[in-house]
Amino acid sequence: MLDVVVIGAGPAGVLSALRAADLGARTALVTRDDFGGMAANDGPVPVRTLAHAARLIREARQLGQYGITVSEPALDYSRLLVRVREVVDDVRARSALRGQIDSAGVTVYERAGTARFVDLHTIETEGGLRLEAEKIIICTGGASRRLSIPGFELTHTHSDAWSLTSVPPSMMVIGGGATGVQVASIFNAFGSRVQLFQTGPRILPTEDEDVSAAVAATFRESGIVVRENFGAIESFEKTPGGVRMVFSKDGSRDSAEAALAVVAVGWVANTAGLGLAQAGVETDDRGFVQVDPYLRTSAPNIFAAGDITGRLLLVPQAIQDGYVAATNAVCGATVTLAEQVSPIGSFTDPEYAQVGLTETKARQAHDVVTAVVRFDSTTRTIIDGRTIGFCKLIVDRATRKILGCHVVGERAVDLTQVAAIAMAAGMRVDDLARVPLSFPTYAGILGRVAANASHQLNRKGGWEAHQVESIRP
Ligand SMILES: Cc1cc2nc3c(=O)[nH]c(=O)nc-3n(C[C@H](O)[C@H](O)[C@H](O)COP(=O)(O)OP(=O)(O)OC[C@H]3O[C@@H](n4cnc5c(N)ncnc54)[C@H](O)[C@@H]3O)c2cc1C
Repeated sequence: MLDVVVIGAGPAGVLSALRAADLGARTALVTRDDFGGMAANDGPVPVRTLAHAARLIREARQLGQYGITVSEPALDYSRLLVRVREVVDDVRARSALRGQIDSAGVTVYERAGTARFVDLHTIETEGGLRLEAEKIIICTGGASRRLSIPGFELTHTHSDAWSLTSVPPSMMVIGGGATGVQVASIFNAFGSRVQLFQTGPRILPTEDEDVSAAVAATFRESGIVVRENFGAIESFEKTPGGVRMVFSKDGSRDSAEAALAVVAVGWVANTAGLGLAQAGVETDDRGFVQVDPYLRTSAPNIFAAGDITGRLLLVPQAIQDGYVAATNAVCGATVTLAEQVSPIGSFTDPEYAQVGLTETKARQAHDVVTAVVRFDSTTRTIIDGRTIGFCKLIVDRATRKILGCHVVGERAVDLTQVAAIAMAAGMRVDDLARVPLSFPTYAGILGRVAANASHQLNRKGGWEAHQVESIRP
């Protein structure tokens, strides 16, 4: 019997297996598909490669502004997919983790088919592999949510981008969350006529409201039809040119058509076929595997890590989960997940990113100062001709610590990492404002907005106003 079997070789599974082996456990890693999981093969790596192609088209169109003459960029989608495959293979081949896993002595079973529990200590795969272990860590990730709507089988997910032979002339994207907006933005740049549908009142509903509004406005200017609050879907129907979505709102019926409909309405746990009931592993009301702070499931010897637990659904968090689950599986319950500053962002055009609280949430619990610097007033963005967007900082008036940072525009994701580091270090906004960040840079914009917030906090009038406000009954 092995000490540890890890199911799923995405970031959570790979880190789990590596950590368990590093702690001296005899470990096997078994996965249905390729090493690297969705992150390497179907999510961030290939999608980011498409986003890079979209950026190159955008930049090629900007060349004329700088006196460089070239012809209009033309995309050969099949060749782009060849590049995507090259990147995916290259990232996998150069992955430091693969080498570490092998040298740590982990036995890896790739493309083993779906694994399922036979009992608390035993799993079997479709490929006929049977493994027994003292501890088992479930890291099987998630998948796009499907809707029980007539004609749903006519729709696609982001994964179908890899099997398209050309860019569809038109596309409906249903779902204005992180995946939906990325698909919409990328295929808009590739030349599809894109309509983006969001059931709720705003796209990117978990972002700061200013971010949602700015991204929606910029999408509209770039030609994407953004339909927020569009109603409820009734059905999808086949048309000669593609697919029709029938939906209704306030008793009236409407429809939209496109060559392709991509649905991105949430993420569900990849538990199908796992046979969780054989092992007594319970799921929560959303279907994700239920875990305690040690990432233990309801079964005494079974742990879970990554997207399968339904928390932040991001690679860095999956990696940390893997470390925690494996440590506890091998050493007993010793480590819990730390409360963390977690920057999140997407590689759309314009990029957007956040860390910490939105302004609405911050105001619910704190007396705050907000500072905003618009990208049409900063040197580097003007130099680069990227003047759309802003950087917003939310600061606690009492502690002067940064509660949130929200950015829309060029390099938003990278800029937010700097804010995350300042927040994780517990810096006061005045200290951040005093760091002489290089000029003219995107990170420097953060210094400017910090200076703006610090100035507001130090203004005599502002302070007195605050005093007056705070002594009101
Ligand atoms: C379009 C898109 C873009 C994204 N972009 C980003 C981004 O920019 N940054 C970011 O941090 N995150 C991003 N994510 C999220 C990120 O990909 C996930 O959070 C991450 O991959 C989760 O890692 P994981 O190890 O939990 O699961 P996964 O990476 O999903 O790996 C799960 C593994 O389990 C295997 N498996 C499943 N069921 C079984 C079974 N029964 N038996 C055996 N094996 C099984 C699968 O084959 C897979 O190898 C994106 C996701 C999507 C969909």
